[in-house]
Amino acid sequence: MKLNKKTNIILTSLLLLLTIVLTFISGKQFSDFANYETEFVLRDDVITRVEKFSEYSPKLEGTIGDSNIYVIEGDEPGPSVLIIGGTHPNEPSGQLTATLLLENITVTKGTVYIITEANKSAFTHSQPLEASTLYYNIKTDNSTRVFKFGSRATNNTEQWPNPDVYVHRTSGQQLSSTDIRNLNRAYPGCEDGTYTEKVAYAITQCIIKNDITITIDLHEASPEYLTINAIVAHQRATSVAAKAAFKMDMLGVTISTEVSPTNLHGLSHRELGDYTNTLAFLCETSNAAQGKIRGKFTEDLILTGEDKFYEKASELGVLYADTADISERVARHVLSIVSIINAYNDIYEDQEQGKLVFGNLPEYQEIIDNGLGHYLLDSLL
Ligand SMILES: [Zn+2]
Repeated sequence: MKLNKKTNIILTSLLLLLTIVLTFISGKQFSDFANYETEFVLRDDVITRVEKFSEYSPKLEGTIGDSNIYVIEGDEPGPSVLIIGGTHPNEPSGQLTATLLLENITVTKGTVYIITEANKSAFTHSQPLEASTLYYNIKTDNSTRVFKFGSRATNNTEQWPNPDVYVHRTSGQQLSSTDIRNLNRAYPGCEDGTYTEKVAYAITQCIIKNDITITIDLHEASPEYLTINAIVAHQRATSVAAKAAFKMDMLGVTISTEVSPTNLHGLSHRELGDYTNTLAFLCETSNAAQGKIRGKFTEDLILTGEDKFYEKASELGVLYADTADISERVARHVLSIVSIINAYNDIYEDQEQGKLVFGNLPEYQEIIDNGLGHYLLDSLL
């Protein structure tokens, strides 16, 4: 059909207007998401102090990477544990478990350090081509808490351009380009490095300066991935991991243990064990929303893990772990943390600093029966 000049101008103008409107809407959505601050409810009588990453990695000051480190000290000095949530914002059980600890745990002897947004830049965008839901809601007893489902990687707005090959700074290991924005390939980090290396450096220095005894980095993996429902431990931490897995097994929660490969660099369980004195662990739960064979991406998928394609895959026996809902995944992480600390206490109880004594965490079955939301505090917003 041949259009006359006038019709042509009108159609072109309408298309241009539509493009401008869509650009504005998506730009506003992107900006709102990037600037949305997730709420963490602090118990003033329990939290000893809130530190910033920039206290350990000064060049992060004034950047979005200057995350909080929540510190809870017991009345008596003793061993310490660092819980890292939010390394990968598309793995929600890690951040939610750190949040549950932040809002519940009490410490009698020793110190607990909690990070809920390890790579805050990765919470400002979502994974390209995944069409993921941006926010998800958790109902508490009297409110609704809103969390963000972000990306695995630092936002390009903080780190650009990406090289063709990512060369890990301290080992020379070569990885794919996108891993240069992956916090869990950036350890031990670098004070003057990329944004992601500066974030890794802050965590490494926090462990060194506070001589943190145990570090637990919380993650999720897709159900078809081999390392799932697992504890990966640095070689100095394997006896604690084995005993923790045994304790979990006795409760009917099976978990596998793996030794951190010595030739896979940049990961927390490798470098934090090599560059600091901490006993380094990484825990994985099963997240269908992260998987590659899932169907439509919905908030329900994040929270329930239910997906007809994963159901079929489970029937065919091709998954390493079944999908699980968010309460079960957080319950598993909480039990892993409790079991690792108790295993440490059993094995190292004769040491001068004694045991890490803590309380007020719900049992595995309680979290499943009552739901995660029951153990998060009501929103103050
Ligand atoms: Zn991860």
